[in-house]
Parts: sequence; structure tokens; C-alpha cells
Amino acid sequence: MYPNVTLLIDGQWRAAASNRTLPVVNPANGEHIGTVAHADRSDLDHALEAAQKGFKLWRKVSAFERSKVMRKAADLLRARADMVATLMTMEQGKPLAEAKIEVMSAADTIDWFAEEGRRAYGRVVPSRGEGIYQLVIKEPVGPVAAFTPWNFPINQVVRKLSCAVATGCSIIVKAPEETPASPAELLRCFVDAGIPAGVVGLVYGVPAEISEYLIPHPVIRKVSFTGSTVIGKQLAALAGLHMKRVTMELGGHAPAIVFDDADIDVASKLLAGAKFRNAGQVCISPTRFLVQDSVYDRFVEGFVAQAKALKVADGLEAGTTMGPLANPRRITAMESLISDATKHGGKVQTGGHRIGNKGNFFEPTVLTDVPLDARVQNEEPFGPMAIISRFKGFDDVVEEANRLPFGLASYAYTRSAKTANMIAAEVEAGMMSINHHGLGLPEIPFGGVKDSGYGSEGGLEALEAYLVTKTVSQAGL
Ligand code: NAD
Repeated sequence: MYPNVTLLIDGQWRAAASNRTLPVVNPANGEHIGTVAHADRSDLDHALEAAQKGFKLWRKVSAFERSKVMRKAADLLRARADMVATLMTMEQGKPLAEAKIEVMSAADTIDWFAEEGRRAYGRVVPSRGEGIYQLVIKEPVGPVAAFTPWNFPINQVVRKLSCAVATGCSIIVKAPEETPASPAELLRCFVDAGIPAGVVGLVYGVPAEISEYLIPHPVIRKVSFTGSTVIGKQLAALAGLHMKRVTMELGGHAPAIVFDDADIDVASKLLAGAKFRNAGQVCISPTRFLVQDSVYDRFVEGFVAQAKALKVADGLEAGTTMGPLANPRRITAMESLISDATKHGGKVQTGGHRIGNKGNFFEPTVLTDVPLDARVQNEEPFGPMAIISRFKGFDDVVEEANRLPFGLASYAYTRSAKTANMIAAEVEAGMMSINHHGLGLPEIPFGGVKDSGYGSEGGLEALEAYLVTKTVSQAGL
């Protein structure tokens, strides 16, 4: 039932001009389940031409009408959620229930931006002279090139797509080659909802070839990328050279701080749930667990029990709570980080190994006593791995939380309102969630500081990134 995924160019679903394809593999069993079209230069030229045409048309459609198309697309996605979630689990590995949540929340994201796009107001600034009107007008930035990764095949696309469509831009999405079918279904909902040809396009191929061609291309006015910091810096530099607006949602290494006055049982349960969601392949995954001395042992015990209770299996199997890693690169990365950590004196409290030799299954892993010079204390593990360390007092934990160049998500648990306010003020991060896990909703900003990128993919700020400001000063005749 897994499809051979095609490109979407100028409203047509079609193979690459060269007919080239790439294989798609199920990470739960290593089997080839389908193919994805591999765009070359001529396909990209067509996609750019279509995006230019789509933008000219779509920018003239009222925000009111645009929102109607979006709401219809959201309803179609909800109606197709079971089918789309199944495709996502087959290509990405996450448990079916997680895939379904991703699809349903994508529909909510489309709805939210559909509504917010209708409120992209400008303003009137009082003038110095009688009869003069000073208008501040918001206009769509133009055709967008979006690059999205495989960890949330739909969620990573839907924010960029919704912002572009809501504001009157057109967009070419370079979706992940490893997980191509579910994002294609997302775009299909927009096509089936009646979006004009050229407004949304979808390509796959060699990521570097596509980004190097699209970003400098004069048709493209904005770039949005989600992925690693290393690649993000390269693409931001290229975009800068060509004066393109950019949103960068990059890596993290989130501190999760547990103070001794926290509810430790709640903290270990919620943090373990957040850590192993999507097998830890989440940019906002809590990773450096910093626990105050007096509650450290109890926290470790509770957290390890949660990790051991997970059922690691094919995401399509009932009862699975953690699926395989999305690709064999993650297994290699886990093994190498764990071996380095233990060489430095780190202790493996649970997990640490690959499971079997079919599919990319890995044990939920908890490390303790890992010194700061071990690689995993500095590099984003992007897998099912928690590193738990002790801290003594407030100042120490702030220093450790801010030690790395990353600044995406952060978490804290405390019963003290004063500590909560103080820690929120001190941690250098784009987001902090205290005593619960509340990040990633469309209505609130989502983004990082420092090496974790810039710009936001949620809230009003997300729409602003797709709008330019025009000042009109007008005198009466
Ligand atoms: P990677 O850095 O090669 O790729 C990450 C993503 O960027 C992929 O989707 C890839 O297709 C894309 N990409 C890579 N080079 C590109 C280029 N030149 N132009 C455009 N897109 C490009 O590595 P990977 O093995 O796929 O993932 C490893 C690391 O990437 C992880 O450790 C993690 O740090 C990061 N990552 C982050 C996110 C996120 O949500 N921020 C998602 C996936 C991966």
C-alpha cells in the first residue's frame, strides 16, 4: 500500500523528467517499500516557473478566500488521518499513535494559520501634515523555498506551508527523501482543496544540489530550513550572500532541570515520556537532565524504570511505545556516543545497545556520571538517550544549562514560583516549559537562539517572517 511518491509541479503529480527515483526503506525491517522521484535541474526550473506564476495569482486572492482553501485542506487531512499516519509509520518508524497525533495536530496548525492570516493587519500612522495618510501595509514576501527533515515528516512541513499559503506566498517544499509519502499526502490535501496550480510545489532529490540551486535563484525570496546546525549555517551563509530572508530551526541539547522541591515522580514520568517520544529524534527533546543532589537518586530510579517499561517494536504493532530509529546513521551515532561516554567514565544505567539486527531498533538508554568533556555532553545525540547529572545550587545549574552554544528548548521542574521565574529568566533558550511539556503549539512562538537558529515557526512571529512591510505616504490631490 506504500506509494511510489512523485513530484508536485504546477499542480501536476509527476515523475522526474529523468525518470530517476530513490528507494524508500521501512526502518522497522529494512525492506524497500517504494520509491520517490528524484528531481533534476529541469524539474527545479519548472517548479520555480510555477512558483512565480502561483505567487502572482495567489497574492491577489483575499486572505478571506485563502483561509477557506486552508480550512478545507485541514478537514481533508483529518478525514485521511488514519491512512496518512500509517504511511508515516511505515517510512519513519514512530508508533502509529504518535503519527496520528502528528497528522491531527497538523490539521489544527493549518486552521490556526488560516485564521491568523486573516489578521495580518498593517496600521495607519498619524501624519505631520493635514490630508496626508501614512499607511503601513503587510505584503507577502514572495516564493519560498522550504527544506524539511525526516523526524516529523508532516509537522516540519506544515508550519512553513501554512505560513506561506496564509500570507499569499507560493512555496516549493524540498521534503525528506527518507520519509516522502506522508508530506506528499499533506500537499495533496491542499491540491484537493482547490489551491491554484503553482502555489504549492514539492520536490525531492539530492538536498545539497536542490538548496544550492533554489536559494540563490532570483525567483526565491525566502528560505526556511529545519535540520542540523552545521547545514543550517551553510544555508544561512548562502542565503545571506543573496540577501534572502531566512528562518533557521536547528539543533538543540535541551537542559531539563529538576530542583529538589519538585514533584519528582511527576518530573521523572513526564520527562521520560518527552525524552523517548519519537525515539528521541526531536530537536526539543530533553537531553541533559540536571537534577539537584538530594533528589538525584530518586529521580534516576524513577526515570530508569520508565525507560525500561517502554515497548520497543514496529510502530505498526499494537502497544508499541517506541519505534525504530529512522535511519541506520542514528544507530551508528548512538553507538559511537555511548562508547565515547563510557571511555570517559560514564555509566550506563539501562540500555546502550542496538536491538537485533533487523531494522534500526535501539534500547532506551540512560547514562549517568558522564564528564563534560565526553562528546555526548556537547553534541546533540538525536536519539533515545538521556544523560543525567547532579547539581548543587541555582548558580551551578544555570552555568551548566548555558554552557553549550545551543539554545532551543529547556525544561524545569520546581514547586517554587520564585525559582520558576528566576530559572526562566536565566536560561539562554528560545523556549522553556516549566512543570509540564507545553511547546510546539501553533499559537506560541517556536524557535531558538545562539546556534539553534533564528526566527520562529509559531505564533504571530511565524507569519511575520513571510510578510514584508511597505510604507505608503499619500497626500490628497
Ligand atoms: P543532515 O545534517 O545531513 O540532515 C538533516 C536534514 O537536513 C535532512 O533532512 C537533510 O535532507 C537536510 N539537508 C542536509 N544537507 C542539506 C543541504 N545541503 N541542503 C538542504 N538540506 C540539507 O543529517 P541527518 O543524518 O539527516 O540528521 C542528523 C542531524 O540532523 C541530527 O543529529 C540532528 O542534529 C539534525 N536534525 C535536526 C532536526 C530538527 O528537527 N532540527 C531534524 C532532523 C535532523
